Amino acid sequence: MRITALAGGIGGARFLRGLKDAVGPGDEITVIGNTGDDIHLFGLKVCPDLDTVMYTLGGGIEEAQGWGRAGETWSVKEELAAYGVGPDWFGLGDRDVATHLVRTQMIGAGYPLSAVTEALCDRWQPGVTLLPMTDDRVETHVVIDDPDAPEGSGRRKAVHFQEYWVRLRAAVPAHAVLPVGAEDSRPAPGVLAAIAASDVILLPPSNPVVSIGTILSVPGIREAVEKADAPVVGLSPIVGGAPVRGMADRMLTAIGVETTAAAVAEHYGPGLLDGWLVDTVDADAVPRVEAAGIRCRAVPLMMTDQAASAEMARRALELAGEVREG
Ligand code: GDP
Ligand code: CA
Repeated sequence: MRITALAGGIGGARFLRGLKDAVGPGDEITVIGNTGDDIHLFGLKVCPDLDTVMYTLGGGIEEAQGWGRAGETWSVKEELAAYGVGPDWFGLGDRDVATHLVRTQMIGAGYPLSAVTEALCDRWQPGVTLLPMTDDRVETHVVIDDPDAPEGSGRRKAVHFQEYWVRLRAAVPAHAVLPVGAEDSRPAPGVLAAIAASDVILLPPSNPVVSIGTILSVPGIREAVEKADAPVVGLSPIVGGAPVRGMADRMLTAIGVETTAAAVAEHYGPGLLDGWLVDTVDADAVPRVEAAGIRCRAVPLMMTDQAASAEMARRALELAGEVREG
């Protein structure tokens, strides 16, 4: 079986680790990773979502935190702070810096991000084929009220997603989410072919706006998923009317989608989704999702441990099987 999954960072990575346990030895998993969160810091190219997937599946993740390297130290960050050189709000650990150095050096030598990711994965052996959504530069920006504007001017400004998410903790209203550069980007080599050749396409419980939404904004990817023969099954990142972790509600509000499992399914829509899993606490959402033309089941969706994530993956594959059989 060939499985393709679109993934952001923590939610995507934890689900994929379970998926690896749920599939057979001959099955192949291709992951199309979000690069809209990428940021350039101190001359380094940082790809937080690709690295979270790579470290999580490769056994190098700081488990409790869900991002960054296990056993991390922070000397580089402290030294930069001693020079008074910012930004100081982004978690750039010493071990992690090595990944960014290798990546930046290879990009500088002319390798596309997809080739760089493959080279980094040579070390981590994530057990999946990890592809960036694009080799081109796409950066998610968030439109907020300009804090420096005169009172009542209504002036707004766009900030980098990481500035909104990490520095501002998504604590100010977001008016819009813009995948800057997406319209001129192309899917990375292998992305469209993997989608077309899939037996199953999965949307893990990743952020529907700034993870999955950004991947789908690369011209050609949404169309390929929609017209693929494979059933497309997603898992809700929203449980009981709130994100399980993080601030996805802020992003959903910015694009005018209510923070419920059913509304996220409707937002993806029946053109994209064939099946949708909601958590058991949201069982009452099932009829609404099915009325929208999407087959829906309520199953436990809390990734409390790897076994729970694997069970979620099994349920998603089961639903894909049901869709396939009509
Ligand atoms: P990020 O890039 O690190 O933000 O990670 P993703 O976009 O891949 O995933 C973030 C989403 O994962 C958030 O909206 C969370 O609600 C969701 N999430 C995290 N843990 C769980 C879980 O245990 N169950 C479910 N259903 N969703 C989860
Ligand atoms: Ca992310």
